Amino acid sequence: MKIILLGPPGAGKGTIAKVLTQFDGSVQISTGDILRTAVAAGTELGKQAEATMKAGDLVTDDLIMGIMEERLKQDDCKAGYLLDGFPRTISQAQSLKLLLEKMGEKLDCALELDIAREIIIDRLTTRRTCSQCGEIYNVKFKPPKVEGICDVCGGNVVQRDDETAEAISNRLQVYSDQTAPLVDFYRDEGLLLSVQNSDGEEILGLLKSKLAIG
Ligand code: ADP
Ligand code: ZN
Repeated sequence: MKIILLGPPGAGKGTIAKVLTQFDGSVQISTGDILRTAVAAGTELGKQAEATMKAGDLVTDDLIMGIMEERLKQDDCKAGYLLDGFPRTISQAQSLKLLLEKMGEKLDCALELDIAREIIIDRLTTRRTCSQCGEIYNVKFKPPKVEGICDVCGGNVVQRDDETAEAISNRLQVYSDQTAPLVDFYRDEGLLLSVQNSDGEEILGLLKSKLAIG
C-alpha cells in the first residue's frame, strides 16, 4: 500500500507504520529518521538540518523534497510505502502530488491519527529513542530491559534533543499551524481516513476494507 501517515508528534505514526509494513512488505519512510541519521553521521545534510531540528522547527521544503525524490525512486518502494512525517506542509503535499504523477503512481490513503493533546505531551516527555536503530521506548510503559540500552541493537537509548518541554510545545504549535491543514487537503483529494485512539491491528482492519485488500 501507499499511505501517508498524518498526525501530531507522539500520535504513534511510527508504531502504526511497523504493523502495516509487516502486513504487506511496504517500507516505512520516516523523514525524521533520515534526518537524525544524517545529523549523527555529520553529513552535509545533517549540518544543514541540525539546529532547525533541535528547536523543533521544520527544515526547508526544498531539502525535504530532495531527500524524498531520491528515496521514492529506490527499488524497495515498489512493494509500497508508508510516509511517516512527510508531507508536513501544503507545499510539500503539492510537490509530492506532482512527483507521484510524474512517476505514474497513486496514493491509496492519507491516514490521520487523531489524538488528544494531553496524551501527546505525556507520551513525548516520557519517550526515549535508540540513537542507533530508532527503536522507541517509554520510561513508564515500555522501558528497555537494561536501562539506557536498546533491546534490539544494544545502542544507547536517549531522550531526543527535541524532546525538551520547550521544543515539544514548539513542535505541537508547528504541527497545528503548518501540518494540520493537510487534513483538509487530503479530504478534498478523497484520500482521508481518520481514526481516533485505534491500535495498529484495528487500523489494518479498516484499511483492508477501505482499500479492498486481503
Ligand atoms: P515527530 O516525532 O515530531 O513527528 P519527526 O521524527 O517526524 O518528528 O521529525 C523530527 C524533526 O525533523 C522535525 O521536528 C523537523 O525538524 C524535521 N522534519 C522531519 N520531517 C520533516 C518534513 N517533512 N518537513 C520538514 N521538516 C521535517
Ligand atoms: Zn537500537
